[in-house]
Amino acid sequence: MFRRAVQRDRLAHGFLLVGPPGIGKQKFAQLVAQCLFCTQRTPDQLDACGECPSCKQVVAGTHPDLLVVERPEGKQELPIELLIGPPERRGREGLCHDLSLRPMTASRRVAIIDDAHTMNDASANALLKTLEEPPAGAILFLTAPESESILPTIRSRCQPILFSPLSPEDITELLIDQGMETDRTQAAAIAALCEGSLETAAQLQSPELRAIRSSVYRQLAQSDFDSLGASKHFQSTIEEQGKDPATQRKAAIWLVRFAADFYRRLLGVTGQSLADEAASITAVRNRFSPDDLVAFDRWGLMLDRCLEAETQLLESMPVPLCLDAFCHDLGRIGRGALHLL
Ligand SMILES: [Zn+2]
Repeated sequence: MFRRAVQRDRLAHGFLLVGPPGIGKQKFAQLVAQCLFCTQRTPDQLDACGECPSCKQVVAGTHPDLLVVERPEGKQELPIELLIGPPERRGREGLCHDLSLRPMTASRRVAIIDDAHTMNDASANALLKTLEEPPAGAILFLTAPESESILPTIRSRCQPILFSPLSPEDITELLIDQGMETDRTQAAAIAALCEGSLETAAQLQSPELRAIRSSVYRQLAQSDFDSLGASKHFQSTIEEQGKDPATQRKAAIWLVRFAADFYRRLLGVTGQSLADEAASITAVRNRFSPDDLVAFDRWGLMLDRCLEAETQLLESMPVPLCLDAFCHDLGRIGRGALHLL
């Protein structure tokens, strides 16, 4: 679509790339810029050699005609300074100003505003002027998880492009190709958990999340599940992640997701599991006969309870309360005391 638009000289000035985080929206915008800037290809080929200085600058993030703004780590909002400069230099700095300048080496300037949904109204209004009267040849890419999260005035001036989550097979290949994982079974296990996002896949490789996951598997695999002990254990695992309540909530969400994953694997509805986890699953399975339908029923109920806990955590139920009730109910289901929730 882009190639056809470039060939007809019909390329829009604003694009809204929509889809979950970590699936390559910014990467795509960067690639389009690389193709337009490549000195070894003509723009209508929409291809990049990857070798010329322009191509290398784009990849290194140093190309003078590719302007990128993104929300700083740990910030909730995209600072307005990045778009229109600090108060003392309003309109004389920032992305909107830089985009209006003559290109340095390429024939046009390209801007990427990552996480555009985190712009406040003032920022969005500042950007609106640029979108309404874009500088000649300029192209703006905005990324967001949902198009509804962007102000309608901005949205209506951008051409939407929808991005889908990556398939588990693609994630597995990417993890191997990019050297993020060397073991294929391990890569496939991560791919099954990451909901189509390479970013989440990378997070899942963090030692912290791995620690939470193995703690969950260890607790749940015990032959006599101790609700109180598990709840205390989970609580301290989460507190180890940091003091920040948002970080703790995120960790708790992962914890119940891992628990859900544990029961899915027990039920045999997902394939690959990591080596150390496979041992836990086998240990639990060996305690039951393969035709023990009661056990299967209970695992199903436990899985439902995990999904319920995830919803509660996403809806901001207090973390300790949620985990307490969660462990309590898992214990009751395990003892056969709770047949229907
Ligand atoms: Zn090139």
